[in-house]
Amino acid sequence: MKPATRAVHAGTFVDEYTGAVAASIELSTTFRHAADGTRSPAGFEYIREDNPNQRQLESALCALEDGASALAFASGMAAAATWLDALEPPGSVLIPKDVYHGVRRYAREVLAARGFEIREVDFSDLGAVEASIDGSTRALWCETPANPQLTVTDIAAVAILARAKGAKLAVDNTFATPLLQSPLALGADVVMHSSTKYLAGHSDSLGGALVFASDDDFAQRVRDRRTLAGAVPAPFNAWLTLRGIRSLAARMDWHCRNAQALAEWLVAQVDIAAVLYPGLPDHPGHAVAARQMHGGFGGMLSVRCRGGREAAIAIAGRLRIFANATSLGGVESLVEHRRSVESAGSNTPDDLLRVSVGIEHIDDLIADWKQAIAG
Ligand code: PLP
Repeated sequence: MKPATRAVHAGTFVDEYTGAVAASIELSTTFRHAADGTRSPAGFEYIREDNPNQRQLESALCALEDGASALAFASGMAAAATWLDALEPPGSVLIPKDVYHGVRRYAREVLAARGFEIREVDFSDLGAVEASIDGSTRALWCETPANPQLTVTDIAAVAILARAKGAKLAVDNTFATPLLQSPLALGADVVMHSSTKYLAGHSDSLGGALVFASDDDFAQRVRDRRTLAGAVPAPFNAWLTLRGIRSLAARMDWHCRNAQALAEWLVAQVDIAAVLYPGLPDHPGHAVAARQMHGGFGGMLSVRCRGGREAAIAIAGRLRIFANATSLGGVESLVEHRRSVESAGSNTPDDLLRVSVGIEHIDDLIADWKQAIAG
């Protein structure tokens, strides 16, 4: 079955009694035991470990990423943190120089305090990755295309390097989504999502996910930690995320076409010093992205503005259709001066605007940038 079809149908549960085709929201926190004291026939007991909406969402995530098992979380950071917390120190963990700033902070502040050595590496440079892995390396955390500089990592090549040293490879697939990139098929051990973004798709639901290549002891350990920490989504958010996934293929198609067209237009503007988008032929990661992504290069791009920080902030302030707001992956276009929202220690250039290209008409999006650049 093609991914677009899976997105529409995966995790569907038709209620035998009512025949309802659309999923309902099950808010019960507790599930009655059978007369002999065992679990309910569906296997539920308490909402924090498993519940109907979470299970439906996980079944869809598992099918979309072609994994062995999936876990839904309260947020993308809850997913990342729970996986990273399940690693045993001592040892080293590699993170990219270009990475979501929350993960960088978690590694620098929390993992380092637990006894891990954090190695920050340019993942687009395979030689640098190889030189940074050794027998002490427990895991590589990879993000491609990366937030916010759209750095592309060759997942298959990094997976080979990780396996050779017995290290686990996690890939944050938030920007690409399962529709455009399949990290498990390229050798990753786990895929992570901030489902707050494209999966839910409407900027109204916080969530995260992990999908495992193998339902092994480590996956079970992560599941246990999630239950213990209570890092699970509320049923309504799980329901909203699955509802969003239903239209993921159609939305991604539109996001990709708009982002490609806007990137090509922006490249020709004198006030824009650089456009960072893997769909542009001169992007350093274009060849790798063209090989490992399918159906487009995603809806995220960044621009570097001539005139530095002040010029960038002024352009963001003049855009009207693009809301000047953080986050990404919703149907509406957003823009933000990324360095202003990242914590101290950010690697992001001060002249950079991160752009989440929505699914409005491309003519309106280009016209908005035209007036914002003109001042
Ligand atoms: N990974 C990426 C690439 C992100 O962009 C984000 C959030 O912006 C996260 C992880 C964290 O996700 P959440 O905000 O759902 O905790």
